[in-house]
Amino acid sequence: MVAPPEFESGSKGPEPSMLGQLHHGAIVRYEPRLDTRQSVFHLFGCNPFALFIRDKARPPARIQMPFWSEFSHKSFQKAAGKTEVVVMVTGAMEAHGTHLPLATDSYLPTFLAEKVAEKTNALVLPTIPFGDSWDFNNFEGTISIAPEVLVDVYNSIMKGVFKQGFQYLVVLNGHGGNIPAITMAAKNATKRGNRIVIIVNWWKDLAENARKLVEETPGGHAAEDETSELMHVHPELVDMSKAESHRVVTKFSIISGSYRDELLPSAMYGDPRKATPEKGRLIMEQAEEELIELINQLQQGKLPLVRE
Ligand SMILES: [Zn+2]
Repeated sequence: MVAPPEFESGSKGPEPSMLGQLHHGAIVRYEPRLDTRQSVFHLFGCNPFALFIRDKARPPARIQMPFWSEFSHKSFQKAAGKTEVVVMVTGAMEAHGTHLPLATDSYLPTFLAEKVAEKTNALVLPTIPFGDSWDFNNFEGTISIAPEVLVDVYNSIMKGVFKQGFQYLVVLNGHGGNIPAITMAAKNATKRGNRIVIIVNWWKDLAENARKLVEETPGGHAAEDETSELMHVHPELVDMSKAESHRVVTKFSIISGSYRDELLPSAMYGDPRKATPEKGRLIMEQAEEELIELINQLQQGKLPLVRE
């Protein structure tokens, strides 16, 4: 409430109509004057110009997006009532060549999750920015969480989601190293009740056709696909002057916490030099479309089953 332009506290017996002006919780009294400015103020019960100024200063009303972390516990109930689907994004902090940022595997699925939030009622959890990056642990900037710890983290989040009464949890995963931990956690979290986890390893489960159409050098790590996608999503974080091609083919899976450049030169595998933002756009747009279709199906209680 805006303070009246002039007032005297209890100097005279107040007119009843002048009572009841609440100002920071206290009743204040003021005397009517007969000049025009005062009369206008009395007409509105307060200074209309001050109201106008205050409205200008107020931040514009924000459209509430279904991001889990932005609701209060009370408003959460209302948002939760609009959906049966929650999206959990699992990323990584891992070396991606010398031309892509460490959080590449977090940025890409987060971009898709934000599209889900824009276009559906599904509640989107904040991205988990670390994952199991064992293979890259010897590269600068990589932070890897041990898989047995990740299973516990994922499992706790999944149970926390299901505890709220949701039926479907879509794990939008951005990193291959997370798959075993997500799978184990999901098996545990869905033991009881009619709870369903759907794991979307987005780089291979979504936009298959777009990839076939645009990729000239498919496969790899920090290769043509990821580089194109980052060029579309965060072009400012891509340095194509540093993009180089490396391919080391091994016949067997080699597991070692100590290898580095001999198997993954420059923390990458493949050829990013053919990457373009347009290729990235086409892949991300198809991925978005398919992901939103999946969410919409789940909202209607339909599982994404493909029957041949
Ligand atoms: Zn990656």
